[in-house]
Amino acid sequence: MTTKEPIRTDALIVGAGPCGLFQVFELGLLGIHARVVDSLKHVGGQCTELYPDKPIYDIPGIPVCSGQELIDNLMEQIRPFAPDFHLGEEALTLTPKGDGEGEGEGDEKDNGNGGGFEVVTDLGTRFDTRTVFIAGGVGSFQPRRPKLEGIDAYEEQSVFYRVRDPERFAGRSVAVLGGGDSALDWTLALQPIVGSLTLVHRRPEYRAAPASVAAMKRLVADGNMREIIGRVTGYDANEQGFRGIEITTEDGTEQISCDAVLVFWGQVPKLGPIADWGLDLNRRTINVDTEKFETSIPGVYAIGDVNHYPGKKKLILSGFHEAALAAFAAKERLEPGKKARLQYTTTSPLMHERLGVKPD
Ligand SMILES: Cc1cc2nc3c(=O)[nH]c(=O)nc-3n(C[C@H](O)[C@H](O)[C@H](O)COP(=O)(O)OP(=O)(O)OC[C@H]3O[C@@H](n4cnc5c(N)ncnc54)[C@H](O)[C@@H]3O)c2cc1C
Repeated sequence: MTTKEPIRTDALIVGAGPCGLFQVFELGLLGIHARVVDSLKHVGGQCTELYPDKPIYDIPGIPVCSGQELIDNLMEQIRPFAPDFHLGEEALTLTPKGDGEGEGEGDEKDNGNGGGFEVVTDLGTRFDTRTVFIAGGVGSFQPRRPKLEGIDAYEEQSVFYRVRDPERFAGRSVAVLGGGDSALDWTLALQPIVGSLTLVHRRPEYRAAPASVAAMKRLVADGNMREIIGRVTGYDANEQGFRGIEITTEDGTEQISCDAVLVFWGQVPKLGPIADWGLDLNRRTINVDTEKFETSIPGVYAIGDVNHYPGKKKLILSGFHEAALAAFAAKERLEPGKKARLQYTTTSPLMHERLGVKPD
């Protein structure tokens, strides 16, 4: 689906993890505005998705902060550069364009130093960008799916990993799988409108807010829904469609009749579409040089956990350094023939202007 008008930009960052966010900062200092796309609905990458409340001790100058605090601080730090975020969209394809076609947001003509790139997302958004920064980390987060042969065929008809339109489930017999906040929130939200509801979780303990768990238990006690502790071990479908799932509990197997299954088993990262962009790869990472952090395609940079070079360490501080050097390289690519000058944020009036600060 590529129906939308292309969005022109000088820099497109794929990935809004800590390194992608800091890339916005480093580009901003050099006067380059960035757009950021992430398949998650929120910024922060692994920090927010996997360890928001855990402490990090090895960010220079910050003795300790949680994953979420680091992301909140990065968002504050990049605010002067007003990046545009495109969240909940996965970058699917990257296609180099012919020379001379690229034109930046600032209407600067691409003067032959590469024609830029078209990047298209799963929602059909098209970016016409002069440089690309892949900050995809360990990949885009994908819903964890049941390992049941053939169940993919029922996706978005009877098996769902995201709820876009709750009304779609009105009157249906629904099974919700999971024990975290998403599973419990949707259980409570859908219970009043569905025909019947069963919550299936593999163990009695939930990882959701205690108030949500208590509300669910009340609905079960009042006979308004079922709660089953067990594992999904099969499903039942025929020509007429999806008919139900098989749950294995301590007492044996049970068939649950349902025509919609909502799976909330969390997200797992996969390198995903980036693997097909024609880049020189090292297993599931992208080879880069250590001068520009450029990939095998000139104008496409890779920083953070997604890249590989001799001695690479998957640490946030490494990604920050890589973002700085990639930004300088991109600046010289966008303005060929001009040396990108290093200026200190402490003393440079230009840096102050870009940061919107008025130091004493
Ligand atoms: C439990 C845990 C604790 C950790 N503790 C530390 C620590 O103490 N110190 C430290 O330095 N590091 C730590 N790390 C590692 C650190 O989190 C990573 O190094 C860091 O998150 C990498 O940042 P990134 O921006 O490169 O990628 P990520 O944080 O992985 O973000 C990448 C983003 O790219 C998005 N993405 C990928 N592909 C696409 C696509 N095609 N389209 C759209 N979006 C896409 C993903 O959805 C994701 O949001 C820890 C990791 C874990 C799991």
